[in-house]
Amino acid sequence: MSAASAATIASQVISKKARKHRRHGHRNKVTTYANPGNSAASTIDPWLRTRIEEMIALQPVMVFSKSWCPFCAQAKDALGGLGKQFAKLELDTLGPQTEAQVQDVLAEITGARTVPRVFIGGTCIGGGTDTMLLAESGQLSDMVDEAQEAYKEKLQGKGEFAMQKSDDEWSKDLDAQRFQILRRRGTEPPGSHPYDKMMPEKGHFSCGACGLPLYSAQSKFESNCGWPVFDKVYASPDLGQHVGSRPDGSGSLEIVCNRCGSHLGHVFYDAVTEANPNGERH
Ligand SMILES: [Zn+2]
Repeated sequence: MSAASAATIASQVISKKARKHRRHGHRNKVTTYANPGNSAASTIDPWLRTRIEEMIALQPVMVFSKSWCPFCAQAKDALGGLGKQFAKLELDTLGPQTEAQVQDVLAEITGARTVPRVFIGGTCIGGGTDTMLLAESGQLSDMVDEAQEAYKEKLQGKGEFAMQKSDDEWSKDLDAQRFQILRRRGTEPPGSHPYDKMMPEKGHFSCGACGLPLYSAQSKFESNCGWPVFDKVYASPDLGQHVGSRPDGSGSLEIVCNRCGSHLGHVFYDAVTEANPNGERH
């Protein structure tokens, strides 16, 4: 997915959420604006704040702008002129309530509520003039390249996991389906996994890529979701928890093997029982 299409999705997700608030009549509960220019008058929807923080953290280059604003055009032109890919969120497409709240979040983070706010590698470099000056001095290009390289390495789990193998090595070690799921974040069709309905009394389940034990047989529980599910992970002094989580960029938490970084699925917190008070469902 290109950075630009990721941002378009982000924008759609926010619009959908804003619509939902309206449909359920939450609009007045979420925020009241005596004066849209005064951030003290508003309450920020925590969901929206998380989405904005996520965009800043997950996109190597993230521009918060308004489609009609000449200063925003300056920043987007500076990046586009260098041939750099960037994600953007056009605040004026979100509706006035959400637009104002996003600006409040940006004010909290950067100290300024004006647009554009340009983030490279998670750090705000300022607005339109700042971006243009950095482009003219030749620094912008290097900053973007560095952030995009760091982002790529992070996606590949480089340096993060004890076991490092190239895609070539993994594709030799794993069959095509396992490679697609474990190394390319794929998903089996529901109900197709041989372990879906299997409920062993003893033993454990291991990482399909590196063999690290991840879940005990006792941690598996019955579910109709279509995939094997677990509520507790193994931990050891060397690795800590054997399963780690990270945002997948669409609002869910991806889970990975903490030794080799392979994709295991997602974690949800909807399976609360007496035995599983946190409700974890892996
Ligand atoms: Zn593994």
